[in-house]
Amino acid sequence: MPRSRVSQLLSTGVRPERAFLGAGKLTVAIGGKQEANRHDPGEVVSVESFTAYEMLAELARTVGLESAYEVVPPPGHVHLNRSNLIVLTNPRLLPFLAQVMKADPAAQGLIVVLDGATARTDTGCVHGVAWYAAKLGSTITGLAADGDRKLGDVLTDAIGITARMHPECDLHHPGTPSATTALIRLTEDSLQYLVLGDTTVVVDTSDGIEVFNDDRVDTTAQAERAEANRYPFGSTQKQAALLRMKHAELALRNQPGGFWVAAADPTVVTHAISGQIPLTAVKRVAVLTDGAARLVTMFDLLDWQGVLDVLDQHGPTELIRRVRAIEAADPNGTKWPRNKGSDDATAVYAN
Ligand SMILES: [Zn+2]
Repeated sequence: MPRSRVSQLLSTGVRPERAFLGAGKLTVAIGGKQEANRHDPGEVVSVESFTAYEMLAELARTVGLESAYEVVPPPGHVHLNRSNLIVLTNPRLLPFLAQVMKADPAAQGLIVVLDGATARTDTGCVHGVAWYAAKLGSTITGLAADGDRKLGDVLTDAIGITARMHPECDLHHPGTPSATTALIRLTEDSLQYLVLGDTTVVVDTSDGIEVFNDDRVDTTAQAERAEANRYPFGSTQKQAALLRMKHAELALRNQPGGFWVAAADPTVVTHAISGQIPLTAVKRVAVLTDGAARLVTMFDLLDWQGVLDVLDQHGPTELIRRVRAIEAADPNGTKWPRNKGSDDATAVYAN
């Protein structure tokens, strides 16, 4: 397709932000409730719902879309099978929608953070670490939708199911793909957490900040780690030392006296850190992979309270931007000796 035709399509096609809202006049269905103290109950819409409708309508106007609202009377049966429909409600008012949301793990207050381990050796797996983390993550998400299933059982089953997805690979290989795992699930009255490996869960509670992390990996291969830290990035000595370090580390992975991460053996979950905190005591929560936690754990520039404040005020992108800025200012790893200039960094924040 010629460049001129691409420009023509871009200038005449539907703008993405408009396509997100709809392809024609929008209908916003608002859940109504019965007005109290009236013999002839009509349906009323809360001020919050109507304000939200007005904001949506204004947004639609800016992209050239008309909109109208309709009030869904109790008991909240709304016809969902329509185009250009937005439903705006509290699930209590529209029980059908509550069912849809209950079936959707994404709406259940579930956070899943996996950090695949860098493979520096053979792995015995033809699929690779990214494949492993993607399969494990999607399996966890599916299983965690069952709120009656404990997080430990969810991870145990997910590791087993993922292992069975590649029986042709050598799952007993010491380098078989692995990932640190952190799970958070909100129930009606509690925040459940599970951490397996060096990913950090930080919960700000009414009793102070609680940090859940298992950095036992740092206690392994210490001599090899110190040796690797002596060399600048990119040097052949560094590469060789990192390989020796990896072999020493893998010898203690998922072994007594070593450290524990999700790999092919489901029984490692017994070594996870898990528990729950009453929801009424929880103010905010963050999950950070070791690459995102460096401002605290490696650079010593912030404490966990500071991390929560950055996430709260500026969001995860800013937190990771600050990590990257420090790393860029120390390109050879001389001020802050480390394995990698930058590590994969993921931060999730919820309040
Ligand atoms: Zn495989």
